[in-house]
Amino acid sequence: MSRIGTESAFEVLARARALEAQGKDIIHLEIGQPDFPTPAHIKEAAKRALDDGFTGYGPTAGLPELREAIASYVSRTRAIPVSAANVCVVPGGKPIMYFVMTALLEPGDEVIYPNPGFPIYESLVDFLGATRVPMPLIEDRGFSFDLDRFEQSLSPRTKLVVLNSPGNPTGGVISKQDLKRIADLVRDRDLLVLSDEIYSRIWYDEQPESITQFDGLLDKTVILDGFSKTYSMTGWRLGYGVMPLWLAAAVERLMVNSNSCTASFTQRAGVAALEGPQDCVDAMVAEFRKRRDAIVKGLNAIPGFSCTTPAGAFYAFPNVKGTGFDSRALADLLMNEAGVSCLSGTAFGDYGDGYLRLSYANSLENIEKALGRIRTVSHQWAK
Ligand code: PLP
Repeated sequence: MSRIGTESAFEVLARARALEAQGKDIIHLEIGQPDFPTPAHIKEAAKRALDDGFTGYGPTAGLPELREAIASYVSRTRAIPVSAANVCVVPGGKPIMYFVMTALLEPGDEVIYPNPGFPIYESLVDFLGATRVPMPLIEDRGFSFDLDRFEQSLSPRTKLVVLNSPGNPTGGVISKQDLKRIADLVRDRDLLVLSDEIYSRIWYDEQPESITQFDGLLDKTVILDGFSKTYSMTGWRLGYGVMPLWLAAAVERLMVNSNSCTASFTQRAGVAALEGPQDCVDAMVAEFRKRRDAIVKGLNAIPGFSCTTPAGAFYAFPNVKGTGFDSRALADLLMNEAGVSCLSGTAFGDYGDGYLRLSYANSLENIEKALGRIRTVSHQWAK
């Protein structure tokens, strides 16, 4: 337990809530969840499922109808042949990281992962006694890897390569060209790729691609995806992995030892999400786009801030080195003096130093208000 990490977004949220309890007005830009309700037809499907008796244990790997629906959805969206047997349904996207890493990693194994990146990758690598090989994300490359450095970091001990596109916390999308080079570098190696595609539907310019499209990669990749972000279902706890059969068997074994199964009525709602109308997703992404444009413009107008335009997800990741403040100190100052709760880039690893993460899963009105508040305190660093 001394080695396991955490996700500090939850800690910052708790601090913000404590300040609110003292009467302070806080604008929440720390939380990584869409601020929209789950679409009505998905909620209706869950209610119907409860009435229809989906209240008992189900198959460990997921209801057959949901596994089929996921296989068809993933095949369609990535143009790859996936069958229901490759699909493991679990309570959220996160358990896929936990189960896959637990199944694969032993002390001495090396894991290459993005930094700044989702903190749970690093936490699990440490917890399992494997070796961290953080790969810095390069701002000038749209927050993708330096591919020469990536190549040099591969070793006979590399067991797992983690990719996340669109990415948290940067909003970066890995280009098809970069994915192809990564595919070429890992194809003949005895390793797996964990492709975290939880933000696959939240993009603004070019549709993100999956590494699984390249020859030989489907057999050595786990796609992580789920319902949390796409259908605004974070609290439902419903996600999945698509993986080779031998690994699916291991994940099923870990599931039977931990959860037994994922809740059955939420899985019925998942079928409705995938097979029902998708205009709710389009409407959410259109709203995120407006907010993205507003927050990037506003952040770039603040002295000492410079913000590249995120290509996906719902996070702005401004470079704040120009303020002269340490990013942790700056995040604290914004919380305590401006009432704006956001995260220091260091919450996502050492290479996040010099950046902040602001989630734009909040109303345009609140985003504008937060930008105004940040401007008000910016005299503390502006000359
Ligand atoms: N992967 C990334 C990159 C995320 O940002 C998140 C959630 O914040 C997850 C996975 C986990 O998603 P879930 O809430 O479905 O477990």
